[in-house]
Amino acid sequence: MPVGRRRNWWCEPVRGGYKWWYQSLKNAGALPVLPGIEGVAHFIAVASGKGGVGKTTVAVNLAVALAQRGRRVGLLDADVYGPSIPVMLGLRARPIASGGMLVPPECFGLKAMSIGFLIEEDQPVIWRGPMVSKALMELMGKVAWGALDCLVVDLPPGTGDPSITVARCLPKASIIIVTTPQPVAIADVRKAVFMFRRLGTPILGIVENMAWFCCTHSDERIPIFGSGGGEALSREFEIPLLASLPIDLALRESGDLGEPLTASQPEAPASQAFARLAERVAKGLHLAPAE
Ligand code: ADP
Repeated sequence: MPVGRRRNWWCEPVRGGYKWWYQSLKNAGALPVLPGIEGVAHFIAVASGKGGVGKTTVAVNLAVALAQRGRRVGLLDADVYGPSIPVMLGLRARPIASGGMLVPPECFGLKAMSIGFLIEEDQPVIWRGPMVSKALMELMGKVAWGALDCLVVDLPPGTGDPSITVARCLPKASIIIVTTPQPVAIADVRKAVFMFRRLGTPILGIVENMAWFCCTHSDERIPIFGSGGGEALSREFEIPLLASLPIDLALRESGDLGEPLTASQPEAPASQAFARLAERVAKGLHLAPAE
């Protein structure tokens, strides 16, 4: 229950103090009409509290793993300030327009769309909040996604405008939160969890990335970024820990090469971990079994 209220704001106790929330997050009015996503059955938004924790790597490999299991999958790069999906998919195609809609290019069994396909390489996106929200709505509404079993949305890190726009436009989206185990990342994830709960967007689970490293000479797990953070978060918020992934050289190399590991080396240990993650996600969302 709120313990305080000002015009459009209210205050609630949170661990370690109080937090003010802006009311319009909750009562944001009518949903925008987005014809491009009318044929999409499920939305999976991959979020993180902090940048650099492997959110895009998880979004790309999860999307490919779902497609490999016969699902019709789209991948939307909503990380408008730092779109990495063109690099990670090795795609530089300019989408073509048809009938007033953009046709998303296809690769690795996915339909993909990114602001990075529409701007010059190396050009920064220097936009304020309303511009970003407008662009995101166009990437959802004016792209011919067609009939999809799921659209995986790679959100930018943090709790800013883009995440709020996606949560508002896709109230039925399920969130997957990616984090590393260390306290500095977990602290930001807690904020993201509070935000999505406040927006009423369900959180499907947590993926703990870079949870350990094994050098080539030994099986000993070295917890470079600490350990146990994902499990502690899962207990605190009663959110399932969907996967714990190691630091994996092949995963990093495949991202830089533009060939997702799940596609180029489906038998690799990290690809198998993504396959298990995809199964858990499909089960959690009751995705129709592939025909
Ligand atoms: P974010 O989207 O959170 O900013 P990225 O997915 O872009 O993070 O990953 C940041 C860097 O870390 C990339 O170079 C990526 O290849 C690498 N990376 C991500 N996850 C792993 C992992 N499990 N093992 C090794 N490298 C990883």
